[in-house]
Amino acid sequence: MNQSIEDQIERLQAGGIIDMHFDLPMDLYEKRQRREVLETEFLPEFESGNVSVVGAAIYIEDRYLPEAGLRIALDQIARLYSETATSERFAICKSFREIQAAREAGKIAFLITMEGVEPLGTDLNQLRVFYELGVRSIGLTHARTNAAGHGGVFAASGSPTEGLTPFGREVVRECEALGIIIDLAHINPAGFQEILDHDKAANRVTYKRPPLLRYRPQY
Ligand SMILES: [Zn+2]
Repeated sequence: MNQSIEDQIERLQAGGIIDMHFDLPMDLYEKRQRREVLETEFLPEFESGNVSVVGAAIYIEDRYLPEAGLRIALDQIARLYSETATSERFAICKSFREIQAAREAGKIAFLITMEGVEPLGTDLNQLRVFYELGVRSIGLTHARTNAAGHGGVFAASGSPTEGLTPFGREVVRECEALGIIIDLAHINPAGFQEILDHDKAANRVTYKRPPLLRYRPQY
């Protein structure tokens, strides 16, 4: 079928744009003195951009680490819930079905994610808490090194050649047990490979060897 570029773009975007890396909870936290920030500041942009699903990423800036990481993460989630409650146009979703239901009701779906496991410290139990709060996708690291592994660094000098730490491996196993998606976007190439190898062994699925040479961290 011969479709014009415009037709193809329209078809691709018919279901709306999905942005899985949006530090929305951090923005809401920074603006915590204000109310209805979602409705007044974000909704017009989401609507004009035809955004349908947002991966609302908990991300902790360096200045809060390590002491305040957990508290700020919880505050970010609290802000997302309280702001969502002020508007009919958003829904926090914890499953594919809930995303479908939100879309059918004309709402923008939020899926809570985490970029960097700094809020966990080195306490695996807290992963369960975040799961119960709605976190359904986790990237072990952002660009920096943390207790789980190493991020793909921004500099052209490359990133550390080590893969995950023992804690990082435990996080991967626990995410699989709970049903949390592991997001590979920011992890360094060695960690990326290790997670794929683990997944392959755990699930006995066959992957073609991933094209590591073409792999570039996404920011
Ligand atoms: Zn990201």
